[in-house]
Amino acid sequence: MQNITVIGAGTMGNGIAHVFAMKGFDVTLVDIAQEALDKGMATINKNLDRMLSKERITEADKTATLARIKTHTNLAEAVADADLVVEAATENIDLKLKIFKQIDEAAPAKAILASNTSSISITKIASVTSRPEKVIGMHFMNPVPVMKLVEVINGYATTTEVTNQIMELSRKLGKVPTEANDYPGFVANRILIPMINEAIYTLHEGVAGVEEIDTVMKLGMAHPMGPLQLADFIGLDVCLAICNVLYDGFKNPKYAPCPLLVNMVTAGKKGRKSGEGFYKYTPGSKDLVVADSFA
Ligand code: NAD
Repeated sequence: MQNITVIGAGTMGNGIAHVFAMKGFDVTLVDIAQEALDKGMATINKNLDRMLSKERITEADKTATLARIKTHTNLAEAVADADLVVEAATENIDLKLKIFKQIDEAAPAKAILASNTSSISITKIASVTSRPEKVIGMHFMNPVPVMKLVEVINGYATTTEVTNQIMELSRKLGKVPTEANDYPGFVANRILIPMINEAIYTLHEGVAGVEEIDTVMKLGMAHPMGPLQLADFIGLDVCLAICNVLYDGFKNPKYAPCPLLVNMVTAGKKGRKSGEGFYKYTPGSKDLVVADSFA
């Protein structure tokens, strides 16, 4: 595998393009608008500069990495020579199905099609293609250049050969891959999101405050970040969407989203990206200040 096409230049897509290019792959990064591509490339540049300042790469590494990334706004043209396509577009099922239909028609028959989806069924995505045996989940973690894990998810029809290729490729990227089967939330979110939801229930029921809950999990369980701070970091809308995927997928009330989470998302309190969640965020400040509603 040499030619990798990454679809979506947002938070995850630019990180995925960055790690592939740094390991010597030729990358084509695709987005719907040139503006999104420019923003993605600016982020890659900034992240490479940070690595340079920490002496983890040389100026020559940076130049070579950037030279290996081409950008494109035409999906069909961008996948025409791909050995592997990694889709990291917006988490929306209709959009993903549309994209996979398009890629399947335009990419070479030998190409493996991977999705970075956090919660959408790989089997469902594979079902709109003519090659379900070559469709797989490649779930990177945020921030991609830093986080070691790749959750590799087998769809119902994914062959062992394809899984092994993606496991090996993930190792070549310097990551540690783990294999999972295609059930709601896979492994990472099936365990993480109910924990976050339970932390929100604990707050909602008045068992403890925001800081107390996060402190218990940080100091008591050695988590680097408390679950409420992590929820803000992920985005409360994203946490709610994944909770609903688990709830709908298993039809089990234990996955029902906490009404406080639903209310906060409805009120536009989405965590760090909206400026407020369980904590409030001021641009330029790294202080962690509990939001007024919970102070
Ligand atoms: P994002 O909103 O930052 O970026 C999505 C990008 O996709 C945008 O630039 C958008 O313009 C682009 N896009 C939308 N439609 C497109 C199309 N038709 N063709 C090409 N590009 C298109 O989202 P993100 O956080 O990077 O998430 C991307 C995927 O990664 C989602 O499936 C998400 O579930 C998954 N994921 C996210 C995280 C995270 O922490 N953000 C972690 C793991 C997995």
